[in-house]
Amino acid sequence: MTSPPAEQDVLSQPLQFLKGVGPKRAAALRKCGLATVWDAINYFPFRHEDRRAISLVRDLKEGELSTVYGIVDTVAARKTRRWKTIVTVSIKDASGVIFGIWFNQPWMEEKFKKGQKVIFTGKVQSAPYLSMSSPSVEFLPEDFFPDEYEGVLMPIYRVTEDLTVRAMQHVVHAALEAALPQMVEYLPEKVLAQFNLVDLPAAYKMIHAFDCPVETITPEAMARARRRLVIDEFFVIAMGLLMKRHRTDQLPYSVRHKPPGDLVRAFIQHLPFVLTAAQKRVLGEIKEDLLMHKPMNRLLQGDVGSGKTVVALIAMLMAVEGGYQAAIMAPTEILARQHFITISKLLGDLPVPVNVLTGSTTGPARRETLGSLASGMPQIVVGTHALIQGGVEMPRLGLAVVDEQHKFGVMQRNKLRDQPEQPDVLVMTATPIPRSLALTVYGDLSASKLDELPGGRKPIKTFVVRPDRLPRVWEFIRREVAKGHQAYIVYPLIDESDVLPLKPATAMFNKLSASVFPDLELGLVHGRIPADEKNRVMRAFAAGSIGILVCTTVIEVGVDVPNATVMVVEEAHRFGLAQLHQLRGRIGRGGAESYCVLVDNGPDEAQPAAAKRRAPAVHQPELIETNTNSRLAAMAQTCDGFVIAEEDLKMRGPGEFFGIEQTGLPALHIADLIKDEEELKLARHLAETLLDYRESLKQETRDRLRTRLHRAFGETVRGVDAG
Ligand code: ADP
Ligand code: MG
Repeated sequence: MTSPPAEQDVLSQPLQFLKGVGPKRAAALRKCGLATVWDAINYFPFRHEDRRAISLVRDLKEGELSTVYGIVDTVAARKTRRWKTIVTVSIKDASGVIFGIWFNQPWMEEKFKKGQKVIFTGKVQSAPYLSMSSPSVEFLPEDFFPDEYEGVLMPIYRVTEDLTVRAMQHVVHAALEAALPQMVEYLPEKVLAQFNLVDLPAAYKMIHAFDCPVETITPEAMARARRRLVIDEFFVIAMGLLMKRHRTDQLPYSVRHKPPGDLVRAFIQHLPFVLTAAQKRVLGEIKEDLLMHKPMNRLLQGDVGSGKTVVALIAMLMAVEGGYQAAIMAPTEILARQHFITISKLLGDLPVPVNVLTGSTTGPARRETLGSLASGMPQIVVGTHALIQGGVEMPRLGLAVVDEQHKFGVMQRNKLRDQPEQPDVLVMTATPIPRSLALTVYGDLSASKLDELPGGRKPIKTFVVRPDRLPRVWEFIRREVAKGHQAYIVYPLIDESDVLPLKPATAMFNKLSASVFPDLELGLVHGRIPADEKNRVMRAFAAGSIGILVCTTVIEVGVDVPNATVMVVEEAHRFGLAQLHQLRGRIGRGGAESYCVLVDNGPDEAQPAAAKRRAPAVHQPELIETNTNSRLAAMAQTCDGFVIAEEDLKMRGPGEFFGIEQTGLPALHIADLIKDEEELKLARHLAETLLDYRESLKQETRDRLRTRLHRAFGETVRGVDAG
């Protein structure tokens, strides 16, 4: 074991050890998510303000981002009718007066004193008077003269109430000062030159405008610095994934399956439908992998209803026919049960044992299943993560299928591999993943895509309505039910809540049953309904004896009722697009035309921004409230899950998009998966090249690379030289 290099030590230092950071400031920094020197230097400014040009008040133009210097004249705070505080501060320069205005930040009043010298930077407003709304403020020393002001591109950081931007700059600069002497570039010089990259220390200095001569801080230099840092983040992820994949490829062997025989042929022949061209193509790709010694590690992407289950089942039958065991792991109990039922039904009389193993499989049933698996008997086992918990032995596991991959981390996926035979792995996801994200997060997988919906299904007609149209929506549901169809009405919450003005499922169920559809049969399902009752209601809905199902998002996965043709989603503006898309996939499963109505209860776009209520924090992670109308409009325009996923990613950012943190990969601080696709490609290319030529890298370079990777992944990733 080599001892960790010095760079690690400095970077892991708590911020409190820096000059000027006491316990109080350290606490404030923790609120911004910053604990160590490494955290601080990776706390990147969200923009840079150009302080070079200080304008005279009389030259200011409406709407322009400007910087003015002046002396504080008046400071006033007043309350609005709604008890919000407005602070106004006027400053004077030689040519005139301008006001700074702060809404709802009462503490601003105390920051200003008459006669103080300050700089305001912000957007100029000319009505009702010359002002800037929440300008950023720089307080200047007594002896400051505007001529002496050495303007630079000033990094502006996000801060909380108990920290100023200035204070944050000081902390970041102190952290850089400590870190820089030991920070090293890990890419070989030749590579930097070839791709026109600045080295890492220089990039960090530039982005934080630290210790750089004023004249060198230009927008171009800033862009180059950012590019280097973006590539660093992507490179580390790409490298980590490639090394993992590299190790997988080098595993001595995996199961080598036999070509499909009578069992698989009989199964396909007896299917109640013909496989789509996309299903056949994907099966071909999977078959090729299965026949090879190299372990399969394949991602199967397919929109809701594209028929992934059948594809997985056929692959599993190939394994079973060759004498192996095959497992399919689903993220929830409901989904596992649903798979069990579907698979048993599709198999019909074929002589293939199917077992279930979930958290609620206990007692004799559990013992029996575990025994059967441990005996190595060829079979299919359907389960939840109970499959990867201790005590489950599958000595003949030849194929592991992971459904709804995004709900499991990368690490969990690998656990399934920990069986003696090195099983092949097929990962399925119904959440379409934008290409850039797939490259990053699933960079270690080969990918197949089911891009065709089976059985001539019609796209779902989607409408966005305001709540005042609801009476007509109810009428519409009534007509559909009269035709013998069924409907879902989805709410985001279960119970009345004292803080949120949301319509909860339970209350709406009571109201709808009593006064809107008193003559129809309604059912209620949500997360807190006991399993027995839930199953009873779901069965009744599936059998058609319940016409309208009032529910929360528990129906998102695992429900297949082809007779349901209408879905109304209330409070639709609070859902993520990906989730709405998943929900909508519950209808349009039969031959009849289907309709999705998204009720936009969000604030009216026509109102001024200030009048909009802020999104209350609700306990459902997918619930959000931004750009309401355009987001929902995207849903109405397309049924293509990939388009919707791209849209979602653009609007919400990867952090929120099904939680990148769940993947076990380092977070992105500066890189943007949409904007920086070029850099992502280059980073992957660099990672591949370095890995290919690692034998010829200098020992120093290898050490530096290893240090960087350790920082990102901990000790789980071995050095590039360890093979
Ligand atoms: P996914 O898991 O991709 O959402 P499923 O595998 O659950 O989709 O398939 C959705 C429905 O389509 C199921 O009822 C399935 O039996 C049916 N199906 C699958 N493949 C075909 C096909 N080629 N033709 C007609 N129906 C199909
Ligand atoms: Mg499925």
